[in-house]
Amino acid sequence: MIIARSVPELRAASSGPVSFVPTMGALHAGHASLIRLAAADGVCTVVSDFVNPLQFGKGEDFENYPRDLAADAELAEQAGATVLFAPSVTEVYPPDFSTTIDPGPLAHELCGLHRPGHFAGVATVVVRLFGLVQPHRAIFGSKDYQQLTILRRVNQDLGLGIEIVGAPTIRDEDGLALSSRNMYLSPAERIRARAIPRALQRAAEIYAAGERDAVLLAEVSHSVLDGLTLEYLELRCSDLTNYEPDRPAVLLVAGRVGNTRLIDNIVLDPASPTQAIAQFATKEFA
Ligand code: AMP
Repeated sequence: MIIARSVPELRAASSGPVSFVPTMGALHAGHASLIRLAAADGVCTVVSDFVNPLQFGKGEDFENYPRDLAADAELAEQAGATVLFAPSVTEVYPPDFSTTIDPGPLAHELCGLHRPGHFAGVATVVVRLFGLVQPHRAIFGSKDYQQLTILRRVNQDLGLGIEIVGAPTIRDEDGLALSSRNMYLSPAERIRARAIPRALQRAAEIYAAGERDAVLLAEVSHSVLDGLTLEYLELRCSDLTNYEPDRPAVLLVAGRVGNTRLIDNIVLDPASPTQAIAQFATKEFA
């Protein structure tokens, strides 16, 4: 695996069709699963490792976001990456850079309500990285469900022609979705954070048993979310339009445990109503 710090180094290191996994580093097993998926068909696999200042609001954790290039390189290489692209901020945003991508109304809902400008920052860096990496395919995690939905929209609206792949959420033994931010949690907060997967599991269970009422599905989740400061708990259609009982849905949750903001979601599909609980089936919740 080659570590490229500049665009010329990136161009020299990649060839042929490229599968691309954008990340902000602090790589964990969730990122590794995306890289393995990207590398599975043997094409050049580029992983970007870039903490994007544009997607952090004032008072958020841009400065303190965990950074460890050596550990990231080891994990990316083991997962099958061909190139780790770890540019500086000025490599991605030269001093005269002035374009912003506005992804439209969905960027102002859900997480966008609580993080103004966040999705414009995400869309701008991803389109910029698409231009630099020129992938035929890009892999994103379903854990960041709204981000994935918005990036599909951007890709379609701008006619970028990239195959966008959504990958499953990788969870810890206790069900908590892996996240680079989990390392901020104290042991006591880590235990409180388990309420999030437990809440999703409860909804998945009653959905599997036939419940389709939006209020009841949300209520059963809400009842176990006492350990965190809830930002939102919303049931929507899987394209993030308003919930309709007969269509695939997604239950999305965001909240803070102490100072750490966590998000998660579960897809609920009337065509395979037990699928969501399978995700939690082997996990033990205390
Ligand atoms: P991040 O570095 O947090 O910006 O995430 C980079 C990519 O990894 C995004 O597409 C995320 O959705 C994805 N990702 C983050 N956590 C997980 C997880 N637990 N399982 C699968 N993918 C994940």
